[in-house]
Amino acid sequence: MSELADKRKFYINGAWVAPSVPNDLEVIDPSTEDSVAVISLGAQADTDAAVAAAKAAFPAWSATSPAERLAHVEKILEIYVRRQAEMGRAIEDEMGAPHDMAIEDQAGCGVSHIQTFIDAFREFEFIRPLGPHAPNAMVAWEPIGVIGLITPWNWPMNQVTLKVIPAILTGNTVVLKPSEIAPLSSILFAEIVDEAGLPAGVFNMVNGDGLGVGTQLSTHPDVEMISFTGSTRAGIAITKAAADTVKKVALELGGKGANLVFADADEKAVTRGVRHVFYNSGQSCNAPTRMLVERSFYETAVEQARKVAEETAVATAHQSGRHIGPVVSKLQWDKIQDLIQAGIDEGARVVAGGPGLPEGVNRGYYVRPTVFADVNNDMTIARQEIFGPVLAIIPFDTEEEAVAIANDTVYGLTNYVQTQDGTRRNRLARQLRAGMVEMNGQGRGKGSAFGGVKASGRAREGGVWGLEEFMDSKQISGWDVDA
Ligand code: NAD
Repeated sequence: MSELADKRKFYINGAWVAPSVPNDLEVIDPSTEDSVAVISLGAQADTDAAVAAAKAAFPAWSATSPAERLAHVEKILEIYVRRQAEMGRAIEDEMGAPHDMAIEDQAGCGVSHIQTFIDAFREFEFIRPLGPHAPNAMVAWEPIGVIGLITPWNWPMNQVTLKVIPAILTGNTVVLKPSEIAPLSSILFAEIVDEAGLPAGVFNMVNGDGLGVGTQLSTHPDVEMISFTGSTRAGIAITKAAADTVKKVALELGGKGANLVFADADEKAVTRGVRHVFYNSGQSCNAPTRMLVERSFYETAVEQARKVAEETAVATAHQSGRHIGPVVSKLQWDKIQDLIQAGIDEGARVVAGGPGLPEGVNRGYYVRPTVFADVNNDMTIARQEIFGPVLAIIPFDTEEEAVAIANDTVYGLTNYVQTQDGTRRNRLARQLRAGMVEMNGQGRGKGSAFGGVKASGRAREGGVWGLEEFMDSKQISGWDVDA
C-alpha cells in the first residue's frame, strides 16, 4: 500500500481535507490490473461539508460580474492547457485510454469544451426583451444555486468540463462527485481550479460511490440541481431520489446508435463506422454500435468490417500509437464477455473477434475487437448497450425498414447516415428519433449541443444550450425601459 499514490483528500471550501471517516478504495490500472492509487469514499459528513461550502459561496459568486467569472475560467483554461499531458496520463492510468489518445482526445476535449463555453458565454445576453409586442417584458437568465455534478469514467474530463465550466460561468456553485473508478483526473482538475484561485466554496470535489455521496447529493435539501452522466439505471435512481426535494435533474445516459449505410455510401463509410465503435475500446455512449446495411451492399460491408477488426491492434495504454487499450474494469470485461456469448447463443454470426482475451494476453482487461453479422434487432446484442468494442451488423431492404429498425430502441442519443443522396439524408435526419444525427462522417459543428431523447436522457450539454441548462429563466413584466 505504501507505494500507492495517496489521493484520499477531498477538495472542500478551497482546501484539501481528510475524509471524516476512513474508507479506502484502490484505483486499478486496467492495462496491468495493478493498483495505482488509493482514494477515499466520502461519507454524509463530507457531502454535507461540501454542500455547506457551496451554499455559503453562492450569494457572493452569483453576484459577481460575468467578466469576473470569465476571467476565472480563462485562468482555469490556461492552467489546464499547461497540465494537459499530465491529465492525459491520469486518464491513461485510471481507465486505460491509450497514451496518445488520452492526451490528445480525452484530455484534449476538455480544452475545446472550455474554449467553446468561453466563446458562447461572451455572446450570452443574461437579460433580454421578450419581444416588440411586449415592450415592458424581460427575460432574465439566473443561476440555479448549488449544483451536484455526478460523472462517469468513460470520458472523464469531457464530462467534468461540460458540467463544471458552464455551471460556474453562469454563477452557480458546485459539488463534483466523479466516478470512483476514474477519480484521478478529477483530483488533478481540482488542483487546476485551486491554482486558478476561485473563491473558496465555488468548486468542491468529494469522491464517493453512487450509493454514498451520489445519493447524498441527489437527496440533499440544499442542492437545487443534479447534472448526471452515466447509465440509464443510475439516471432513474437519481431522478427518484431527487423527487422529494424537487430538484432540476439533467440526464445524459446510454445509447445504442444506429448507423444507416446505404449502397451509395462513400467508400470509407464502413471503415469509419467500425473504427468509431472500437474507439475508446467501445466505451462511448454515442458509439454507432448497430450498423444497418442495405442488402445489396451487405456482404461487402461485412467483409470491410472484418478487415477493420482484424487490423485493430489491442495493447497496453502505456505505449504510443493508434491501438485500442483495455476496457475499464473486470466488471465491464465480464459484462462484455456475457454479451458476446449471448450474441453467439442467439445465432448471430461472428465475423471477427469473439469471447476471451486477445491472443498472447493474460493480464489486463482486454477485449477482442468483435464484429457480429446477421444480427436482428430483437437480439440482446442489438438491444443492450455493450460498452465494449463490439459491432452488430443488421441488413435492411428499404429505407422505411431502416428507419423502423433504427428507432426501435429505448435509446435515442446519436444516429448516423451514410449516403450520397442529399434528399434522402435530409429526410432521414428528421425521421430518426435521436438528440443528434451525424451524416457522412461530418462531426457536429462547434458550439452544437450534445444530448439525447428517450432513455438516453434529455439534457443538452455544450455551447449556448449547455449554458442555459444551468440557469433558470425569470419572466419579468413592468420593466422600466427608460430607467
Ligand atoms: P454509472 O451510472 O454506473 O456511474 C456513473 C456515475 O454515477 C458514477 O459517478 C457513479 O458513482 C454514480 N452513481 C451510480 N449509481 C448512482 C446512484 N444510484 N445515485 C447517484 N449516483 C450514482 O455509469 P458508468 O458505468 O460510470 O458509465 C457508463 C455509462 O454512462 C454508460 O451507460 C454510458 O452510455 C453512459 N454515458 C453517457 C453519456 C452521455 O452523455 N449520454 C456519456 C458518457 C457515458
